[in-house]
Amino acid sequence: MIRAGLDLRLERPGFDPFPQRDVGLLACAMSRPLIEFAVRRRVEQHTNITIREHCRARDLVAARRGGAVCAIRLENDAGRSETLAADLVVAASGRGSLTSAFLESIGWPWPDETMIGVDVTYATTVFAVPDEAPADWMGVLTFDSPDAGGRSGIVLPLEGNRWIVTLAGRHGEKPPDERDGFLAYAQQLRTPTIYNAIEDAEQLGKIARFGFPASTRRHFEQLEEFPRGLLPFGDSVCRFNPVYGQGMSVAAQEARLLHRLLQGWANGSDALAGLASAFFSEASTLIEAPWELAALPDLAYPAARGERPEDLEQRLAFSEALNYVAAEDPAVHKLLFEVLHLLKPRSALDNPDLIERVKAVAAQM
Ligand SMILES: Cc1cc2nc3c(=O)[nH]c(=O)nc-3n(C[C@H](O)[C@H](O)[C@H](O)COP(=O)(O)OP(=O)(O)OC[C@H]3O[C@@H](n4cnc5c(N)ncnc54)[C@H](O)[C@@H]3O)c2cc1C
Repeated sequence: MIRAGLDLRLERPGFDPFPQRDVGLLACAMSRPLIEFAVRRRVEQHTNITIREHCRARDLVAARRGGAVCAIRLENDAGRSETLAADLVVAASGRGSLTSAFLESIGWPWPDETMIGVDVTYATTVFAVPDEAPADWMGVLTFDSPDAGGRSGIVLPLEGNRWIVTLAGRHGEKPPDERDGFLAYAQQLRTPTIYNAIEDAEQLGKIARFGFPASTRRHFEQLEEFPRGLLPFGDSVCRFNPVYGQGMSVAAQEARLLHRLLQGWANGSDALAGLASAFFSEASTLIEAPWELAALPDLAYPAARGERPEDLEQRLAFSEALNYVAAEDPAVHKLLFEVLHLLKPRSALDNPDLIERVKAVAAQM
């Protein structure tokens, strides 16, 4: 467990570091395999759920009546094709290819997409936390300004006394995937904090590289009709720039939304009628805030592709000034943290007093 705000050292232009204080929020710091293991254990506790391992969904089967899904065809663990009847298919395969292939096969339209080209390249590896690790932080985030290229580095603690270290570049900057190059890239970050921490640390695995070209939001909520019995979900609906760590949180919020909708619908005579449109409509509202929170700093990069709001400069200035107010005022720091971590709606920042204070700071910048 880390005390968000206190245990993470945030370094960004103007704040080296941002004031570290306990804002009363705890976060679990763990590896992706551990998160997935914990979720799987929870799912296994439901006796009405059967997990089928080593299967690959191949395609969705259209109902004879048209405009509906009635089954999926899959390749099972023995490598054989199998058809599984379904009232509702939640298509959470990440890319959305099953949904797009199905819509194409029945001649229905694919939704409009909003994209922000961010061209992020990551290199990530794991280190043993050295005995002489700094005592004043458990993790560190170092950012540069977009005008300076926007290199960044993130160190986060993992179970087993390890650090996961990610270096990132944008728009053609690619952190190397071999140790010497990785360290050299860390050395070129805006501050020496990360390089100093990992320079002599024991590296525990290979360096993995990952490229993320664009955040993509698919506007399923704008479609006039959608096949009954099919629900694209999570990244299939909206892929967020991973830098901001929002995708899993939004997918979890969508799962709660679906649970609520299904509970309400289950009492009706037709449990599935209108489910997709209700889901898309509410999911769109849910996606709005994290999408905008990420779009604003992404569009600050001169090379980012996407539609820029006319008042982008004012919004960026406001956001920067808000950080200065948060640095001074622990209550605002906490509120900003809660909004950025999707614990509170963005409207929680629409407080007239706060807006006045932020505008006053912005005017002096
Ligand atoms: C580098 C990186 C870092 C990230 N960091 C964070 C973070 O810190 N916090 C956060 O909240 N989010 C983060 N995200 C985003 C997060 O991982 C995703 O938003 C989230 O996992 C989306 O969940 P999903 O279920 O929609 O898709 P996925 O997690 O991609 O899951 C899709 C699953 O479907 C399986 N699959 C695909 N096709 C088929 C098929 N045909 N048949 C059977 N199975 C199939 C895949 O193997 C996969 O297991 C990060 C993403 C990346 C890439």
